[in-house]
Formats: sequence, C-alpha cells, structure tokens
Amino acid sequence: MDVTPQKLPEMYGSMVFNDKIMRDKLPKDIYKALKKTIDQNTHLELDVANAVAVAMKEWAMEKGATHFTHWFQPMTGFTAEKHDSFINPVGNGEIIMEFSGKELVKGEPDASSFPSGGLRATFEARGYTAWDPTSPAFVKDGTLYIPTAFCSYSGEALDKKTPLLRSMEALSKEATKVLNLLGNKDVTSVSTTVGPEQEYFLVDKEDFKKRPDLIFTGRTLLGAMPPKGQEMEDHYFGTLKPRVAAYMHDLDEELWKLGIPAKTKHNEVAPCQHELAPVFDTTNVAVDHNQLTMEVMKKVAEKHGFVCLLHEKPFDGINGSGKHNNWSMTTNTGINLLDPGKTPAENIQFLVFLTAVIKAVDEYADLMRLSVASAGNDHRLGANEAPPAIISIFLGDELTSVLDSIENDTFFGNKQMVAMDTGASVLPHFMKDTTDRNRTSPFAFTGNKFEFRSLGSSISVSGPNVVLNTAVAEELSGFYEILKDVAPEEMDKAVHELLKKTIAEHKRVIFNGNGYTDEWVAEAEKRGLYNYRSTPDVLPVFIEKKNVDLFVSHHIFTKSEIESRYEILLENYSKNIHIEAKTLSDMLNHQFMPALMNYLDSVMTVVGKKKQIAENISCKSELKLIEKLSAWYEQLDELNEKLIEDRIKAEAMTDSLALAKFYQETILTDMAEIRTIADAAEEVIPAEMMPYPSYADMLFYV
Ligand code: ADP
Ligand code: MG
Repeated sequence: MDVTPQKLPEMYGSMVFNDKIMRDKLPKDIYKALKKTIDQNTHLELDVANAVAVAMKEWAMEKGATHFTHWFQPMTGFTAEKHDSFINPVGNGEIIMEFSGKELVKGEPDASSFPSGGLRATFEARGYTAWDPTSPAFVKDGTLYIPTAFCSYSGEALDKKTPLLRSMEALSKEATKVLNLLGNKDVTSVSTTVGPEQEYFLVDKEDFKKRPDLIFTGRTLLGAMPPKGQEMEDHYFGTLKPRVAAYMHDLDEELWKLGIPAKTKHNEVAPCQHELAPVFDTTNVAVDHNQLTMEVMKKVAEKHGFVCLLHEKPFDGINGSGKHNNWSMTTNTGINLLDPGKTPAENIQFLVFLTAVIKAVDEYADLMRLSVASAGNDHRLGANEAPPAIISIFLGDELTSVLDSIENDTFFGNKQMVAMDTGASVLPHFMKDTTDRNRTSPFAFTGNKFEFRSLGSSISVSGPNVVLNTAVAEELSGFYEILKDVAPEEMDKAVHELLKKTIAEHKRVIFNGNGYTDEWVAEAEKRGLYNYRSTPDVLPVFIEKKNVDLFVSHHIFTKSEIESRYEILLENYSKNIHIEAKTLSDMLNHQFMPALMNYLDSVMTVVGKKKQIAENISCKSELKLIEKLSAWYEQLDELNEKLIEDRIKAEAMTDSLALAKFYQETILTDMAEIRTIADAAEEVIPAEMMPYPSYADMLFYV
C-alpha cells in the first residue's frame, strides 16, 4: 500500500468529481441548478452544462486527464468507452484545452457494432449517449469518465442503465404514493439501495496464458480434479496468502480512489476464490461501481501477475462464483423501508412493503430467474453450490410467524388479536436473525434488506434490479389502488385485510428450509412455483404477455425493446457455447490428443526396448496401458467429430430459440462426453507431457 492509513480519508474518492468538489468548484447558482437536476430529475439548461463542463475539465486536468469519454453499458454486459482529447487546435500550431456543455451532455459514438437486437436500423446506426448526472464522473488512466445512458436516435434504450433509471423512478413514484397514503406525508421520493458482494478467482498469469479455454471462454473445458478439492473447507475465511493480500490491498486502494467503498474481503469456499463487498449505495451508483469494480479487479490482477476470473464456473467440481445483490428501499427522509424498526407505526409500513416484496417475488419469480440467466450461471444454479433455479423467499422463523399471526388473526405469541388491529403493533422488536446462514435460499431476508443470491459473478447487476424494482412498483401500485379511497378511520382495518389477503395468496413462495434437497424440488412443484432449469428454458418468459404488460405499463421497456433484448439474450447464449465448442475441438486437436499420442508412443517405445532385452519379457502392464490409451484416443476422435458435425448443424439453424436449445441439449452434451473421457485420460498422462497446467497447478500453487 502506497498510502498511509492516516491519508486514506484524503485519498478516498480523490479521482471522483463528487458533491464536495462540485460545491468547491462550481459557482453557487450553477451548483444549485445541477443539484436540482440530480435530486429531482429536472432538465439541465445548456449554460449550466457549460459551466459544469469547464469546472470538470479543469479538475480532471489537475488529476492528469487529457481525454474524456462517455462511459456506457451496452447490451454486451461490459462497459464501453471512446476517448476524445480536450485538445482543440487554434492555428499557428497551437492548441487550447476545451470541453463544452454539449460534449458533456451528449455524445454520438459510432456504435453500430453494439448489439441492438434489430432495434437500430443501419440508416440510424449511430445512437447517442446522454450524461447521467446521478452517477458521478471520475478520472481513470488519464481520462475523464462520464457515466452515460445509451439510446437510439428514436429514443429506444440500447443499454443497461436506461431501464434501470426508469425502474428506479417507477418504484419511487409508487412507493411514495403508498407512504403518503399511510400518513407519511413528508416523503417525496424513495430510492432503492444495493450492495453487491462480488466473488472472483485469481490464477497465475503464466498458467492462464497456457490454457486456450480460459483465454477464450473464461472457464476450463477440460481438467481432472486434483486429489484435494474444497472438501476440507480450509480455504473459507482462511489466512490470506501474501501475494493475494498484496493484490487485495492494491485493489482496495484503486477502488477507494474511485470512491468505491470496498469494505470487506475474504477467502471464499474454493481454493483461489475470494470475495469483495462494498458498502451499499443507491442502485444506479452501485451498478456503475460494480462494473468498475470488475474492471479494476482485472486490471490490478495483471500488475500482480494474476488473472482475475469472473466466470461463474471456471473449474468443474469446484464451487463457482456468484454475486449477492443486497437490496432495500430508502425514503428521502432516510427511512429504510425494510427495517422492521421498534415502533408500531413503522411496523405497519414495514409490513406493507414486506408483503409487497413477497407478492412481487411470487408473481414475477419467472422474471427474477430470467434476470440471472446466462450460459455461465447455468452451471451453478441448482447444482448444490448456489441457490436452486426455483425462486423462493427465506424469511426466518420469527418473521414467518409474524405473518402467520396476521393471516390467522392471532397475536404473535398465540394470543387473540383484535380485529381492528393491523397486526403490526404485536410485532416484537425484530432482531437480525443471526441463526441464518441459510445459503440455499435465492432470496433471503437478512434483517433490514433482501439478499438476492442467484446472480452470476460476471453479470451486470442492472437486470436483476430492474426486475425487482419494477415488480415491487407494480405491487405497490396495486396496493395504492385498493387503499386510496379508504376513509382515514377505516385505514387500519383495510391495511390489515390487505396484508391478510396478500399473505394468504402468496405465502407459497416463502420457504425456510434447505433448498438443495430433492424434497424441495417436489414440494415447489406442488406449490406451483416456477422451476426453469436452463437459460433457453427461461428466456421465453420475457415475451410472455404478463411480463410485457408489467414492463410496458411502468414505462421500463417498450414492446420492441423487450423483443430486441430477448433476441440479444438468445444470441449471446448461443454464441457463448459456440465459442466453447470451437475452443474444445481446438484443444483436442492441437493439444490434448497429440499429448495422448505422445504418451502412447513413449509406452510403445518402452515395449520395443524391453523386447530387445528379451523377446519373451512380460509387457503386460504396458500392453494394458497401450490398449487403454488407444481406446481413449479413438473415443475422443469420434466424439470430437460428432461435436464438429453438430456445430455445423447449428450454424445452419435460423430460429434463435431452437438454436439456443440445440446448443443446450446437444452441443453441451457432446462437450460433457468429451470431458469425461479426457479427464479420465488426464489422470494417467505424465505431468510433464500435459500440454497445459492442471487443476492442481492452478488451484494450489498461487
Ligand atoms: P452479510 O451478508 O455477510 O450479513 P452485511 O450485513 O455486511 O453482510 O451486508 C452485505 C452487503 O449488504 C454489504 O454490501 C452491505 O453494504 C449491504 N447492505 C447493508 N444494508 C443494506 C441496505 N439497506 N440496502 C442495500 N444493501 C445493504
Ligand atoms: Mg451476504
């Protein structure tokens, strides 16, 4: 660490054009106008933008920036940037450094190569980026980064930020209406908060460079398990190795400079696996920060001779990586709406919002499952290392019995409840359920927030939050409609009836048991819960009427935006597996099969040499081995031929859903069969003949 702990507060956020800097650098009226835009979403006048641009440029140049970029989040799931310098030639070979309000608020990247799912016809291929002043600009690697939304000229969203901002607005609107109705008149907006816990693997760069599968697909397509895996669980929260500790220090420092509040770090379950969690923030900022965190993780790894793997399942047989999306709602007056609190008044509110979330999850579990679907995450969900593909809610025993008591008109603690009571007043001071380390639940209440645990490690956290925000907005809007005309003296009773009815109708989604068991799968089916096992299974729910209606009615997506996103998701899935299949064939052809043949050759040489000593010498073991190696070689050859044939079949298919299903059902099966044989063969091939590092090399020598 280059910075002493005493200097940390000064260093923290030093590369961010944050509120303090804005207050210092901007004229008072300009600062006020900008604040209004940020807090109330009002239009920004050009003269204000111009003044902000000048201040931003001056500040950025002090931080070493010569360029600026509109930073956006296209549908690739990665971030995109195109750098322009501040330089403007003024004749006589001289330049001035310029940055205008127009350049700040709007950009026109040549973005025709980003996926649009057919939304953007080629004649209007440019698209544009628009400044998102709610997420602060920052300087990284000599460039001023301006967070932006990315849209087509006709205004269709082509990115992950636009729908997120729309969903936050929808939730704010509906939640505020309900709060005002419940008597909380001073609330004027509600924001959602997110704290994403990020898991990752570190492997040595030299090992990485020798594995085409890691290079091209992010995961190993071949590789026998070492004698020791994660069964001893000695890595979880274990002592950090010096090299890893140095990496984490550096990473923290880089993140802190960017104003990302990295808070906790520890070793995860699998060897070489680690986790980083920041302090939560408003969703929009948290999403941007998580994208940045993933980038910085990779960049800092390079410096330490590592490669940071963010794939959901880099190693077969070893726990994969996920991301826990901690989510809650906070009013502009500072109240966390999912905090059970101490006083009855707050409890009514809490119970209303809690049941809205329960209803949302029950009715839109299919969309939640969709929001975490990817080729990579299919290896985790339901594989007893991550939550099952079935979406359910963990509430803990205490809260569950509170809901029971409301549903059954009994006091919590088995006393009779007065009919007029909301049930809320009987809720005891709620303690964070410390008994819960139930890792098997996809959506767990953890004291004052929900933790959505099904996310894969590499995805943008935008999608899952779009779904959560919108689904909860929908239920709150329904609650408002039911309650809006109720007379004040009847409100308690009406709220109680609403809670009762909602709990009765949606409690099927609550499950406090072990989500890894077969009994739960059977039970969930009986309860009528969704169980979409794979990405191609779940993607079509996006275009189902119920879900299109949800998004369209809250102005999150237009119908054509949904259709285009659906196409992109299908395409991404198929492309991913296509690349994996090609990489696997390549590795077999160029590396693994030649290695197998080499070994075969050397065993045969031994036989020849032995026979020179004595014609009748026993070569029983060698001959057995030769037979085994030849059989493997033959099987691999045939299976690889089949894989290549199937891949060619896939290339001729035109229906994108059928294609995705073909990749899932046929190509992935071909690949698994190859792997079974190759991994068995790897166990007998001498280490020095292996063409690339083994699992043991990669997992235990860092
Ligand atoms: P654990 O999951 O181990 O209990 P924490 O309680 O520290 O860990 O929370 C994990 C994550 O949840 C952190 O990123 C934290 O900032 C975040 N978090 C805490 N409160 C909220 C909240 N109200 N909204 C969103 N995220 C939150
Ligand atoms: Mg957690």
